[in-house]
Amino acid sequence: MTPRFDDLVDAVLAGTPATAADALDVLRTPDDELLTLVAAAARLRRNHFGDTVKVNYLVNLKSGLCPEDCHYCSQRLGSKADILRYTWLGPTEALEQATAGLRGGATRICMVSSGRGPTDRDVERVAGLVGTLKGEHPDVEVCACLGLLKDGQAERLREAGVDAYNHNLNTAESHHHSIVTSHTYADRVDTVTKAKDAGLSPCSGLIAGLGESDEQLVEALVALRDLGSDSIPVNFLMPFDGTPLEGTWDLTPGRCLRILAMARIVCPDKEIRIAGGREMHLRSLQGLALHVANSIFLGDYLTSEGQAAEADLELIRDNGFVVLGADRPDSPGTQPSTRAGSPATRRRGAGTDVPANA
Ligand code: SF4
Repeated sequence: MTPRFDDLVDAVLAGTPATAADALDVLRTPDDELLTLVAAAARLRRNHFGDTVKVNYLVNLKSGLCPEDCHYCSQRLGSKADILRYTWLGPTEALEQATAGLRGGATRICMVSSGRGPTDRDVERVAGLVGTLKGEHPDVEVCACLGLLKDGQAERLREAGVDAYNHNLNTAESHHHSIVTSHTYADRVDTVTKAKDAGLSPCSGLIAGLGESDEQLVEALVALRDLGSDSIPVNFLMPFDGTPLEGTWDLTPGRCLRILAMARIVCPDKEIRIAGGREMHLRSLQGLALHVANSIFLGDYLTSEGQAAEADLELIRDNGFVVLGADRPDSPGTQPSTRAGSPATRRRGAGTDVPANA
C-alpha cells in the first residue's frame, strides 16, 4: 500500500484531521495509485460504518417552476430542460411515493420541493405528511429539503417528526457567485445552521463538476466539515440541456472516485452519500465507490431517472455490503445471484444472418 495514504489514514483514525493539503493530494492521486487510495479510504469507511449502506429515497413533492437561478439546476427560473413540472403533490400521492421507496428497500425518505424556501403553509403540509408516514412506518427516517428556512420553520419540522434537513452548500464560497446569483452562500450556511440549532440532523453536500478548481473542491469539503454536516451528499453535475451548464462535462469516473475518497478522508465518520450523477459519471466504478462511500439514493432522482432500484440493491450485495436496517444475510458478497432465468442464447453474429453486437 502506498505509505502516504496509509499513514494519512492511520493519523485520521488516531484523531488528527486531514488538512487541506492532504485533501488536495488525494484529489490529485495518479492513476497507478488510485486503488491504493481506495483501499486506504475503505479502512475509514469500514471503521465507522462496517459493511452497511444507507439507502435513501427521493420524493419530489413539487417539481420545477422555481424562481431561483441556480445554473446547474433543471428546475431553475427559465430552464428549458425537458423535465416534469408540477406543483405540490396531494398527500395521497406523496405517501404512495414514499411507501414505494420503503417497499423498494429504502430506510430514509427525502421529501423535497423546488423553490427558494417554504411558506409556513408549506411547512404545515410537510409536517402533516411526515406525521402520517411515521404513523404507518415508525422506523422510517425522514429528511426534508424545502429550500431556505425562515425563523421557526426548522423547529416546526422537528416537532412534526422530521429527522434531518438537507440544504447543500453545493460549492466553495469562492465559487458560489459563479453558479447562482439569486441567493448567497451565507444564505445557505444560515439555513444549515438553523436546522442544526433546531435539533435536525444537518445534511449538506456539494456538486462536483461546476467548473470549480481542485482547491475549491477542497474548500467546499472543509467548509462542510466545519459546518458539522452529518451527511454529505456528493452530487456529480448532470448537465441538462436547457440550463446554463448544458454541455459541461468536466468529470471522469476516476475523478469522481477521488472526490469521494477525499470526502471520506476529510470527514471520516460522516455519511458520505453518492448522490445525483452516480450512474452517469462513476459508470463501471460504482462498486469501487461503495467501498469509500456508505450511502446512496435508490432508483430515480428529482428530475432524472436513475438505474432500476433492483440494480442498486444488487450493486450493494455484489460488493459485499448490506442495506442498513435490513435483515442480514450471512455474507452478502457471496450470495448467489437472485436473478431468475437462463443465460440468453446467442442468436446473432457468427453462424447467423443477424449483425453481431460488436
Ligand atoms: S437548486 Fe433549488 S433553489 Fe436552486 S433553482 Fe433548483 S430548485 Fe430552485
